[in-house]
Amino acid sequence: MTDLLIYLDKVSFKYRGSPDYAIKDISLKIFEGEFILIAGPSGCGKTTLCRVFNGLIPNFYEGVFEGKALVCGHDVAKTPTHILAKYVGMVFQEPENQLFFSTVEKEIVFGLENLCLSRQEISRRLKEIVDYFNLHSILNKAPFELSGGEQQKVAIAACIAMRPRILVLDEPTANLDPVSAKEVISLLQKLNKKLKITIIIVEHRLELIAPIATRLIVMHKGRIAFDGPVREILANRDIEKYGIAVPVSVELYNKLYDKGIKLDKVPLTPQELREEIMGVLNAESY
Ligand code: ADP
Ligand code: MG
Repeated sequence: MTDLLIYLDKVSFKYRGSPDYAIKDISLKIFEGEFILIAGPSGCGKTTLCRVFNGLIPNFYEGVFEGKALVCGHDVAKTPTHILAKYVGMVFQEPENQLFFSTVEKEIVFGLENLCLSRQEISRRLKEIVDYFNLHSILNKAPFELSGGEQQKVAIAACIAMRPRILVLDEPTANLDPVSAKEVISLLQKLNKKLKITIIIVEHRLELIAPIATRLIVMHKGRIAFDGPVREILANRDIEKYGIAVPVSVELYNKLYDKGIKLDKVPLTPQELREEIMGVLNAESY
């Protein structure tokens, strides 16, 4: 039985001074080991939902909070954010807004000091993280000297040093070039597979994450419109009405379908699309 890490029951939140709910009646369960992609048009409540996962809502943002949210068994409405930070790491869109210190080393050590660990344990974990993320050459550099991709890697490393069970990333590759974006995403895949860290990522480039995510949640006007296995959700043509840009392979699958050519499964990558088409061509030649 895998652990239930996040449990939301009819969670709604309205920011103070705002007439409308930013999220409304969100119910979901997230289990250990999942790799969840959250998508939806701008303003649909993705960031607000992430703020519930780490307790910034309702602890930091003022407004009307309704429903129940448990993170690793802790009620977010009754748990200080520094306690929740032990379980949930958070990475944002702009790396420069989350790196505060004069060197990469200080950045990582700061989080560990907040956990009140001994000097020895801090050194041990620092070494472990530097090795794991291969940060040796940039350890004494200032964050502003790094590329966007390196900055995001450092932000993720600083979170992982605290050994969270869940890592929430809000559009972490939005400001990165395609190569750095791919690097960050394969790093997330490694953290999920090898360290069993549960990943929740908000990302509009479905192309990049769809092949590795286990579950896709599509939000619309503060509510969950779709929630399920990625391939299943992307197979649903209604999804286009919700402002989701499906991967090119899915778009081509749909075009072929409309012409009467039905592939066995919805391909999530160009490679899968090629295999599916080859399958159809081979079948036709007999
Ligand atoms: P997304 O991340 O999907 O773009 P957000 O969660 O940022 O959506 O926003 C959902 C709604 O909440 C929007 O209408 C937005 O204007 C509003 N909102 C977001 N942050 C704040 C805030 N700090 N104060 C007031 N309203 C906010
Ligand atoms: Mg957002």
